[in-house]
Amino acid sequence: MKALVLQEKNRLAILDMPLEEKTGPDDVKIKIHTVGICGSDVHYYEFGKIGNFVVTEPMVLGHEASGTVIEVGRNVRHNGRNLKEGDRVCMEPGIPDLHSRATMEGMYNLDPAVRFWATPPIHGCLRETVVHPAMFTFKLPDNVSYGEGAMVEPLSVGLQAAKKAAVKPGDTALVCGCGTIGLVTALAARAAGCSKVIISDTIQPKLDLAAKYGLIPVNIKAQQLQEVVAKETGGWGVDIIFEASGSEAAVAGIFQPLCPGGRVVFIGMPVNPVPVDIVAAQAKEARMETIFRYAHVYPRAIALLASGNIDVKPLITDRYKFADAIKAYDYAVHPRPQSVKVVIEME
Ligand SMILES: [Zn+2]
Repeated sequence: MKALVLQEKNRLAILDMPLEEKTGPDDVKIKIHTVGICGSDVHYYEFGKIGNFVVTEPMVLGHEASGTVIEVGRNVRHNGRNLKEGDRVCMEPGIPDLHSRATMEGMYNLDPAVRFWATPPIHGCLRETVVHPAMFTFKLPDNVSYGEGAMVEPLSVGLQAAKKAAVKPGDTALVCGCGTIGLVTALAARAAGCSKVIISDTIQPKLDLAAKYGLIPVNIKAQQLQEVVAKETGGWGVDIIFEASGSEAAVAGIFQPLCPGGRVVFIGMPVNPVPVDIVAAQAKEARMETIFRYAHVYPRAIALLASGNIDVKPLITDRYKFADAIKAYDYAVHPRPQSVKVVIEME
């Protein structure tokens, strides 16, 4: 079948790949419809690796996907998902070992044996069809489009962060970083009950989009973040800080805008180890949380899209057809500043 293949760093091709798979009793086969381009896909394209994950042989890219069920394994009707042919779905891209200790303890995202699409050596889903466990495949309600379905993956990161922060009704929050993950985290924080969400970045068109959502944008090139936070919180500081930039400078001053007893969730992944000011954290008895992808949040993300509590449609800024997938990736390496999510449609 046709697939978008990263042959080595900086070399992409649409190739015919021998990826035909058999649909097992607990699996469904999905005809792929929309695949979002993630920062990680772009990073593999540009650098051929992320940390210890190195592309050493050709790999199909893509992990943020939606599609249509075209075949159903014989056990699937009985396993709780009730999927059938023709259902529109989105897929959770990480498949853990279902019998591992991490999975049994409810942290399947942390299973060391997890097989995650487009993380070497596992092929991604920018291809015609894919066979996937039904339990990691989720039906989309009629009012949630394929594009929104592909956005469930990044949105789930935001929801995992909101969950880890244990948002309480009326909390105030600051999100550092206004990229896709910063924006979905801000939307998740608000849906979870935050009364006010401040979001900081240096790229004005992204902040303008945040403002349209009713978030409070701060361009840290032109404004003092600390002053805005003080003004918005009566000098107390925000209850929660979501670090979604991965920037060393942001981490260095991360506890400053926090209120006493507040919490910080680290979402962004700095490329290199960065220093953390422990005493600044101690002085506020800050609680620190981290996240790695997500677990148990896909159904919640879909429900929030269906209810209208979260609208990700304005975040899908650029669409390409599969025939232009390489063009889409080249664009995603150097996007317009107002771009948030680039998606590729298979048909
Ligand atoms: Zn992603």
